[in-house]
Amino acid sequence: MKTILILDDNGERIAAFQKMVPALGDEFELKIWRDASSMASESESFFPTAAIISLSYGGDPKPFETGLDAAKFLAQARPVCPVIIHSTDTDHGCSMENELRFADWIVERIRLGGTGSIETIWLQKIREFLAAHPNTWPAKLPADHDERIQRALLSLDGLSVGDGFGECFFTRPEVIERRLESQDPPPPPWFVTDDTIMALSIVRCLKRYGHIEQDALAAEFAREYAREPQRGYGGTAHGILRAIGEGTPWETAAGRVFDGQGSCGNGGAMRAAPIGAYFAYDLNRVIAEAKASAEVTHGHPDGQTGAIAVALAAAWMVREREFSAKPSHALIEFVLEQIPHTDTYYRLKKALEVPLELSPRSAALFLGNGSQVISSDTVPFCLWCAARHTDTYTDALWTTVSGLGDRDTTCAIVGGIVALSAGRHSIPDEWLKAREPIKF
Ligand SMILES: [Mg+2]
Repeated sequence: MKTILILDDNGERIAAFQKMVPALGDEFELKIWRDASSMASESESFFPTAAIISLSYGGDPKPFETGLDAAKFLAQARPVCPVIIHSTDTDHGCSMENELRFADWIVERIRLGGTGSIETIWLQKIREFLAAHPNTWPAKLPADHDERIQRALLSLDGLSVGDGFGECFFTRPEVIERRLESQDPPPPPWFVTDDTIMALSIVRCLKRYGHIEQDALAAEFAREYAREPQRGYGGTAHGILRAIGEGTPWETAAGRVFDGQGSCGNGGAMRAAPIGAYFAYDLNRVIAEAKASAEVTHGHPDGQTGAIAVALAAAWMVREREFSAKPSHALIEFVLEQIPHTDTYYRLKKALEVPLELSPRSAALFLGNGSQVISSDTVPFCLWCAARHTDTYTDALWTTVSGLGDRDTTCAIVGGIVALSAGRHSIPDEWLKAREPIKF
């Protein structure tokens, strides 16, 4: 079966499309959406059979309801078939065309004079496209893909709530101490930062491809950065993401910073937990995919080690949960056995000497707390916090944030890991509601 996907909110045109499709043959089916948000949430399951996508702009300017929103959504996916823009709105039609063209979709705008022209102009363009461009859907998704994505989404919730929670602790010292003492969660909303935005891109990438597709991930990182550059990105990230957005290959952009050494920052680690969740039962893939996800922005081996360590910790939580993981150094031992011997490894090794009963402040003094925003100064403390609280999400975050330092990122890392062992029920509803809504 081949599917023609249509976005249009005009009843007469929809009727005309429905009348036309049988003319193409029995193998074609039609799927119509009247608004972009429904199309965005449902259309991906049709990508493997998509033959043509045809978009109108629509007349309703509500957020995420127009053809331009649909085009932006498609632009984040790998092209699967040609797109026709049958919008009568020229300005918006041009913007839609650009969105798709820049993301390498084959796209053409046609001008429909009325429903009659669907039988002529539209049908002719469809036939022309069908003859020239077969479906290019490439993904070979694993049989348990949906289950894996559910785990990645749980990790993402843990990560994003942690990110928003930790970010609220960049405030006056007396407020911080009062909150820590009373364990009073900060007042909502908890705005999320770059940690969540980049982890979202990673989970979307896993959902679309079932692996880290580096070019697509780099492009999405750059698009999200261009859309909202003020999400707390690190100093070096601005330059790298801007360069990728301007067309510099990610290998070049990520490799040339710090005199050609690449970044060893904690940005690869902060977004890696969902990768461990997705590949939990295949540790070689956890390592390879976490490395791939870090490489697009972090050329330095230690920046990649941080991502591998966090993803492995997340995988361990998924696997050990079945045996009700208890707080212990076993998590750290497991990670040490498998990560490259770079700075993060040696600092993490020290974490074995830090008793889990020690106060987080003392542990942070010994292990670092991310204030240098590099992997080796961030990841060891995070894994110590996660090992200390495998079974209680909120305790894990209170411990982590009391270490201060790069607290949105440390809380994002720990939240993304511990949610997997403590379970969805361990993230309080009020905390989820306090977090700024995020659109997966
Ligand atoms: Mg951040």
